[in-house]
Amino acid sequence: TGEGSTYEFQAETRRLLDIVAKSLYSDREVFVRELVSNASDALERRRRSELTGQLDQAETTSLEVHLTTDRHDNTLTIQDNGVGMTKEELVKNLGTIAHSGSKAFVDKLGTSGEGQEVIGQFGVGFYSAFMVSNQVDVFTRPPDAALGHKWTSDGLGSYQVAEVAGGEVGTKVVLHLKPESREFSSEDVIKGIVMKYSNFIGFPIFLNGTRHNTVQALWMEDAKSIGEQQHEDFYRFLSRAQGRPRYTLLYRADAPVNIRSIFYVPEEKPTVFDLSREAGSSVSLYSRKVLVQSKATDILPHWLRFLHGVVDSEDIPLNLSRELLQQNTLIRKLRDVLERRLVKFLLEQMRKDPEKFDTFYDDYGVYIREGVVTTAEQEVKEDVARLLRFESSALEPGQRTTLMEYVGRMQSSARHIHYLCAPSRVLAQTSPYFEAVRRKDIEVLFCYDQFDELVLLRLDQFLRNKLVSVETDIAVDHFKEEKFEHLMPESERLAEKDAEELMSWIKTVLADKITNVKVTARLDRHPAMVTVLEMGAARHFLRTQALGRT
Ligand code: ADP
Ligand code: MG
Repeated sequence: TGEGSTYEFQAETRRLLDIVAKSLYSDREVFVRELVSNASDALERRRRSELTGQLDQAETTSLEVHLTTDRHDNTLTIQDNGVGMTKEELVKNLGTIAHSGSKAFVDKLGTSGEGQEVIGQFGVGFYSAFMVSNQVDVFTRPPDAALGHKWTSDGLGSYQVAEVAGGEVGTKVVLHLKPESREFSSEDVIKGIVMKYSNFIGFPIFLNGTRHNTVQALWMEDAKSIGEQQHEDFYRFLSRAQGRPRYTLLYRADAPVNIRSIFYVPEEKPTVFDLSREAGSSVSLYSRKVLVQSKATDILPHWLRFLHGVVDSEDIPLNLSRELLQQNTLIRKLRDVLERRLVKFLLEQMRKDPEKFDTFYDDYGVYIREGVVTTAEQEVKEDVARLLRFESSALEPGQRTTLMEYVGRMQSSARHIHYLCAPSRVLAQTSPYFEAVRRKDIEVLFCYDQFDELVLLRLDQFLRNKLVSVETDIAVDHFKEEKFEHLMPESERLAEKDAEELMSWIKTVLADKITNVKVTARLDRHPAMVTVLEMGAARHFLRTQALGRT
């Protein structure tokens, strides 16, 4: 070992170091993720250099990451046999914050997309080690160098670099943990963290000699190469449940954002807890196979929380804290792209196998209704609404239709989509409101779910056609009374004088309870009906009144 030299961190680097060590990351444990990612990058760069002949192939060495915990010395060691660093590289990469040798490497590869496996790009991850360490030692030697070097620092003002004779190829990072960070010298704690963040790293990761990352990052694979069994296994791994996925989507995109993703709809029905608004997301966000956030709440709209899966985007900076993630415009873009794709996917499933989709709709329709109600933008709202299913007066009982199909059957002059909310088909068909429009040959959608009414009220229109409940005045007034008159024989009608007498009697008796009374020719079996401006709102009011009383 030769004489070491001492280097001062530049003022700027020192300031940034302070931020990284104290506040950039919301969880201290992510330093493990950062150091394992660096090790994986070093291995990837070595693999690539060997492939391209820049380094002699070390056929006998397998490229691995080894972590070692030492309770007694309160240390954690992360070792790889990757590219290592020369003295100059040590000084440049670890002495200057925001300098990334990894990024320089990827940049040199150009736009071929070959750098995809390399994780680092910001040049700050390494410093996260100082969140938990008093001192960090880095031993490193490139495969073609005779000598190695040791870099050591307390992360405050300066660092030392010294020559080391006969060091191992690659890089070994030894963390001398702070007393208050003693938990990170525990094998169980490190195992948990490695499994959480680095489970899908492409190189074997050993902890105290045992390998832990054995599950393949399926979302990075080619769709055609993945068998059903692999999906099942992966789904079980993600959901930590038995059972199988009923729908599977592997989706990748390069623009407007890079996306590699996988989604599963469980075969089981959702539980009451799943259904609650409090239930969180079951989709995790990764960047190049490294976990950024598990149960990521912002990458999908809340109504899609029934999906299990992974979203990986190399555009997501790894070192974003949770707070920053929420404000990230990239996340918003991701969410929009994913929502649109997932709605399209579900529509495809509906077309492909309507029966299977109806079962899905019975189990998961609640989420779709919630999606329509909670989506703000009308265009997206209508997109989601394409997934709604209803029985219809134009179809046999048991058959269901969509708003899109309804519109396809509309007469070209029609501007209204009619619906009727009732607890069952029989009640819908015998309702006076249905009777009032039936003879006009108007198709009416029957809504049996208690939330359908709210959903259609909120949707308000679909492809510029107004959604109208046949219970409302709008629907009733829409059909001019004259058009019905021929349907009722003269002999069955009340004489004009009798009708007027009856109406004035009703007006006197009901006085302030009604605004108007009219004679109609369109009921044939019911003697009278009550209409209100907005029956849905009225019913909602009655329901809450009833709830209030119990
Ligand atoms: P990033 O990974 O975003 O580039 P880091 O602060 O994590 O930033 O690391 C800075 C640089 O230090 C890396 O880009 C790489 O050049 C070098 N480096 C870090 N760890 C290793 C390692 N285990 N082996 C080789 N080089 C490394
Ligand atoms: Mg890094």
